Amino acid sequence: MNVGCWRRIESLMAMSYFFIFFVFFTCTVADDSIVSRFQEYLKINTAHPSPNYHEAANFILSQAKSLSLETQTIEFVKNKPLILLKWSGKNPNLPSILLNSHTDVVPVEPHKWSHPPFEATIDQGNIYARGSQDMKCVGLQYLEAIRRLKASNFEPLRTIYISFVPDEEIGGHDGAEKFASSNIFDEMNVGIMLDEGLASPDDNYRLFYAERCPMWLVIKATGAPGHGAKLYDNTAMENLFKSIESVRRFRASQLDLVKAGVKSEGEVVSVNMVFLKAGTPSPTGFVMNLQPSEAQAGFDIRVPPVADQASLERRIAEEWAPASRNMTYEFKQKVSVYDKNGKPILTAHDGSNPWWALLEGAIHKANRKFGKPEIFPASTDARYFRLKGVPAIGFSPMANTPILLHDHNEFLNKEEYLKGIEVYEHILKAFASSHVETKKDEAIRDEL
Ligand SMILES: [Zn+2]
Repeated sequence: MNVGCWRRIESLMAMSYFFIFFVFFTCTVADDSIVSRFQEYLKINTAHPSPNYHEAANFILSQAKSLSLETQTIEFVKNKPLILLKWSGKNPNLPSILLNSHTDVVPVEPHKWSHPPFEATIDQGNIYARGSQDMKCVGLQYLEAIRRLKASNFEPLRTIYISFVPDEEIGGHDGAEKFASSNIFDEMNVGIMLDEGLASPDDNYRLFYAERCPMWLVIKATGAPGHGAKLYDNTAMENLFKSIESVRRFRASQLDLVKAGVKSEGEVVSVNMVFLKAGTPSPTGFVMNLQPSEAQAGFDIRVPPVADQASLERRIAEEWAPASRNMTYEFKQKVSVYDKNGKPILTAHDGSNPWWALLEGAIHKANRKFGKPEIFPASTDARYFRLKGVPAIGFSPMANTPILLHDHNEFLNKEEYLKGIEVYEHILKAFASSHVETKKDEAIRDEL
């Protein structure tokens, strides 16, 4: 090889190094600004009991402006703004897509955190902040995916709505519940909605098609009061403890199913005792030589839509609070697992739901995997939309991530966050380009 040839190879190599460096540099700068926008959102303290909703709203509106999205600020309840963004599709007659996230977060105990919970510190690639998993990540990932789609000149066929709702962490009554039952929502003609899921400690994403419904039960036993030294039948304490023992056995049977791998956490009924109230107070504590005439216990029960809620209620009436043992009961909250037609409230996750197949295809295209569809063990805003018959899928793209929602030191890895944006890009492309005929959940349930 002559010298001229070497020179040409050398200059070609120099150019390709420069190119690689340029691409690397450009990507890193782009990634850095994506991550700093996420940090900016995380730094806004929207923790209960006094979430800074207006600052969060202003931030989201400024992002929407940079993306040329239509915006609407709705206050179903004063000072609880819900931000609704819109990217109009080429065919506005087709059912639209709704991407939902909540702006509020649960409170923190800052002294128990390794990094301040509202500074979004990055340590070894992990972004530490309240809301990094639940669920400010998802809200901004939607917007970043839209930013990329816009940059690639993608034009949606279906209209895409993005809602940022308040108050999910305190039940969603002044946020998603009012939104889902509003005329504004009806006019949006939503065909599919996405909402939050959970992190997955392994490399399979988690997809949720339903959620357990809360039944908050208080049982009360009454009986004749008596001397603390006397043994007699039907004391309030004794009757309550018979019930607690019965509840405990049922709880163990449900947990056994999970431990044996027969059912997943969301498929069993969970029962947890949350309070015990009994005894006669005295200035030094409780009167010790008196058996009280009343005793109560409270339970947080969560029922999946695949369980028989009616038979559980019979069990409560006959075994946990039987009138024959002088017991009564009431529900502090009871959400039905059935819709108005008596069908379990769940989103089809098989061939009858084309959105499900599109979602799975999009995740595969992004080179990610997912596990068996699950029932969300607690409650999310998705329930209000499923109740309206809208198919709703719970999904937060966080694989290889410990589940830290509501926990101290909540974090999300930077690379996992960036990967999630790519996944949403694929999902939105698939959803917004689809011509497929879609049905409401209700219609699918009727056919079952
Ligand atoms: Zn959440």
